[in-house]
Amino acid sequence: MLGTTTATVHADRHVHPDRAVAPPIYQTAAFSAADSETFAQGAVEPRGKDFYTRFGNPNHAQVAAVVAELEGTEAAMVTASGMAALTTAVLALVSAGDHVIGQKSTYGGTASVLLNLLPRLGVSTTLVDQRDPDAFERAVTPKTRLVLVETPSNPLLQITDLRAVADVARAHGVLTLADNTFATPLNQRPAEYGIDVVWHSATKYLNGHSDVSAGVLAGPAEVLDRVWDTSLLTGATLGPIDAWLLLRGMRTLPLRMPRHNANGQALAEALSEHPAVTRVHYPGLASHPQHKLAAHQMNGFGGVLGVEFTGGFDMADAFLGLLHYPVRSASLGGVESLAVHPASMWRGMLSDQQITEAVPPGLVRLAAGTEDTADLVADALAAADAILVANRRA
Ligand SMILES: *Cc1c(COP(=O)(O)O)cnc(C)c1O
Repeated sequence: MLGTTTATVHADRHVHPDRAVAPPIYQTAAFSAADSETFAQGAVEPRGKDFYTRFGNPNHAQVAAVVAELEGTEAAMVTASGMAALTTAVLALVSAGDHVIGQKSTYGGTASVLLNLLPRLGVSTTLVDQRDPDAFERAVTPKTRLVLVETPSNPLLQITDLRAVADVARAHGVLTLADNTFATPLNQRPAEYGIDVVWHSATKYLNGHSDVSAGVLAGPAEVLDRVWDTSLLTGATLGPIDAWLLLRGMRTLPLRMPRHNANGQALAEALSEHPAVTRVHYPGLASHPQHKLAAHQMNGFGGVLGVEFTGGFDMADAFLGLLHYPVRSASLGGVESLAVHPASMWRGMLSDQQITEAVPPGLVRLAAGTEDTADLVADALAAADAILVANRRA
């Protein structure tokens, strides 16, 4: 396997159909075929690149080549968003009457697929506490087809034991899908632990510049062939320009991630000592209940942390308003720091009760960008000092 920095720069080279150093943008909806045989072949080639852009485009194939190399999987494919990656995979891999296991702590959209969408389609679901590997085994039924894991989880940064879950699933002939958005393949490669399919919101770290919505799936060709068949029907196709931007963003992923990791760690350490803070959720802290497991399966802990304040929602909201560098925004993983109140953000996807069960109302999710560590820490501490003073006065 190539080094990650070499892979992000060169793994798509064989997909370049010409000698341009920077790949051209194939801004075309369709490609021509020289004869009927080539045309007929293009219609059935999984993850092809020159038939019809919904069926694949050279810009998609270049992204997929880099993602497969980074995740250490046989194949990869590209979708229009992270949620498109998840729903396309799930629709491809389960049918009415099947059962799916997911996590209690998981991204709001994934939670809504498990709690709302799948039950409506006749697929039963069980959400388990992912901190307990045995909980997955206990949830398996003869109808279980899929286990959805996410580690670290959004936004509580809980860790799932990838090896333990993959072993349980494999023993029961069940496929596993891991959301690797928070870790990225730089910090963690789920396939190394036996996970079948890895997916990302490429909107986040993979693209890294907050200017594209995209998703990717990586795994065995045989499984992705089935997902690809369904993707032709769901039609959540990434535009060629967005695929091109995503490839360009990924070129520097291995350079960006160490800074995100360092900034996440420094903010977590600084805020966890602050009197306005009750708890910081960050797997790189020795005080994180699953720090040992995180250190075992990860090479770095990422740029996202969850911060709980002594004064609940009001104090969390005041903190968000006082930060200078991180602006209030629903995303993460870009070069600029962002901060958000997850309980507010998820109201479009989950009911109030589902949100209350998933996240503490006063939790702030801080996504450290690639700014200088000292500036981010000083900014966060100044905001925390200010809310503490305001709270004492009130
Ligand atoms: C943002 C996010 C998603 C959803 O991805 P989109 O690209 O917004 O559709 C899924 N999982 C995690 C962990 C995320 O942070």
